[in-house]
Amino acid sequence: MKTFSIAIHGGAGTLIKGMMTPELELHYKQALKDALDVGYYQLENGGTAIDAVEVAVKSLEDSPLFNAGKGSVFTAEEAHEMDAAIMDGKTLHAGAVSLISGIKNPVSLARDVMEKSEHVFLAGDGAMQFAKELNYKLEDADYFYDEFRYKQWLEIKDTDSFQLDHSAKKDSKFGTVGAVACDQEGNIAAATSTGGMTNKKWGRVGDSPMIGAGNYANNKTCAVSCTGSGEFFIRGVVAYDVACLMEHKEMSLQEASEMVINKRILEIGGDGGLIAVDAKGNIAMPFNTEGMYRACKSSIGKEEVSIYK
Ligand code: ASP
Repeated sequence: MKTFSIAIHGGAGTLIKGMMTPELELHYKQALKDALDVGYYQLENGGTAIDAVEVAVKSLEDSPLFNAGKGSVFTAEEAHEMDAAIMDGKTLHAGAVSLISGIKNPVSLARDVMEKSEHVFLAGDGAMQFAKELNYKLEDADYFYDEFRYKQWLEIKDTDSFQLDHSAKKDSKFGTVGAVACDQEGNIAAATSTGGMTNKKWGRVGDSPMIGAGNYANNKTCAVSCTGSGEFFIRGVVAYDVACLMEHKEMSLQEASEMVINKRILEIGGDGGLIAVDAKGNIAMPFNTEGMYRACKSSIGKEEVSIYK
């Protein structure tokens, strides 16, 4: 049997000093562990990488602790607009949605775009129409209401500023979630989901749903899910850049991931991190911020649930 593995993230960055209590840290770690376990369970039982990343991301979307699904941040219009993407490294099939609202699990809608439409990326009203045709149930605003997020938004709602999850001055935390997995057949997949930035407007979309920027998978190289300052990650085409360094420069997964996060994205001003696996089950989780909510587990006994460096 080949080595199988999974890695997940709940965003890069750090909580503003004083906000992280030992109790809250335990909550975060438990939520990460729960998501890791449901994904790993799939792989252990012969499930596919694409199933594993979807269930792991759904678990993170259902937690109010992360900026995706239930915990999504507020837009300038006091609403929630979510983005998600999923990609299958075996077939190179991909699905993505952006600017959707009321959907409990955006990652599943992205998967439906991949499997039930002729398209890769659906946005806004059209994506919602697609969800309606598939009989998605819409959650009301109460489901997505979170006092902490609301207060975050109230602080900046009358300004032109927008902020990444929890960010304040130099401290910032990006709460996007993601998962990458390698299954027993050596197929890999990646999924990413986010609420984007607090107080965002004009239909702002970050890197998370963009194939090649925030999310990418190809059995030949790697599966990657990113978190960080989306505008920079889009310009750096970060997830695909990792794959390119592996394919064209013959770098290992670790070397390529570190080169992109600790050098190439930093050089253009981006901060954040990524999680990645290759088809041999190797895992890399580099970040250039003070911390990244992350966890991984592989069939050769590696297991980690961490927040800080
Ligand atoms: N990359 C995401 C975005 O720019 C934010 C995050 O990682 O939390 O939308």
